[in-house]
Amino acid sequence: MLELNGISSGYGETQVLYGLTLSAGSGRVTAILGRNGAGKTTTLKTIMGLLPVRDGEIRLEGHKLNGKAPFQIAAAGIGYVPETRDIFASLTVRENLELAASRGRSGAWTMDTVVDLFPRLGERMSNGGQQLSGGEQQMLAMARALLLNPALLILDEPTEGLAPIIVKLIHDKLQELRNAGQSIILVEQNFGFATALADDVAVVGKGQVVWTGTPDQIRNDAEVQHTWLGV
Ligand code: ATP
Repeated sequence: MLELNGISSGYGETQVLYGLTLSAGSGRVTAILGRNGAGKTTTLKTIMGLLPVRDGEIRLEGHKLNGKAPFQIAAAGIGYVPETRDIFASLTVRENLELAASRGRSGAWTMDTVVDLFPRLGERMSNGGQQLSGGEQQMLAMARALLLNPALLILDEPTEGLAPIIVKLIHDKLQELRNAGQSIILVEQNFGFATALADDVAVVGKGQVVWTGTPDQIRNDAEVQHTWLGV
């Protein structure tokens, strides 16, 4: 579904990715793991066109994404939930959702179905973005991404800073999406959370994919965990 082939990317004079190669399969959850600073967020920003591809190729269902603007990449079918969640703090929950729905492709996700998935958002419709808890912001950010009816949903550290009960809720919702066949790329520091959801795991280290395998394989590979995740 998504193929990254030999990607190089970075910030100004700082190169971060050095020929990164990764594939995420259709209907699968691909977890990207790695230490702080390994290049995970940089990989996602490069996929989304927020950083230019310096070398290599990115393809979504065979169509080349390199050189496209972020809005074109979203329109091509990638929903992105950044680490910063990027909701509009000055707009209400309803306005945040309506804005996303107005830009989205048509499909199963509508204002009604995202509120069915996250009933809490239904109770907070008139609240401003700045009044939401971290967990509610994460739900709103996910709902906004789903309203695009994305072929691929990409989440950057969705559990960061959230209470355990909300982490469990996010896990259950992602499991529901996975069971419904949604293709997902998940960047996570929380090893247990990521390996419980993933079908495939890719480990990023020093700007490259240094290991790929299944959750079971990495759970049983103390050396990979120690070398590349610092566990
Ligand atoms: P984390 O879990 O800490 O977010 P990560 O694997 O997502 O880790 P990246 O955010 O991709 O790591 O960062 C990779 C490298 O790029 C780091 O060395 C970081 O310092 C550098 N970097 C990140 N953002 C910028 C920026 N805006 N300008 C310059 N360098 C940056």
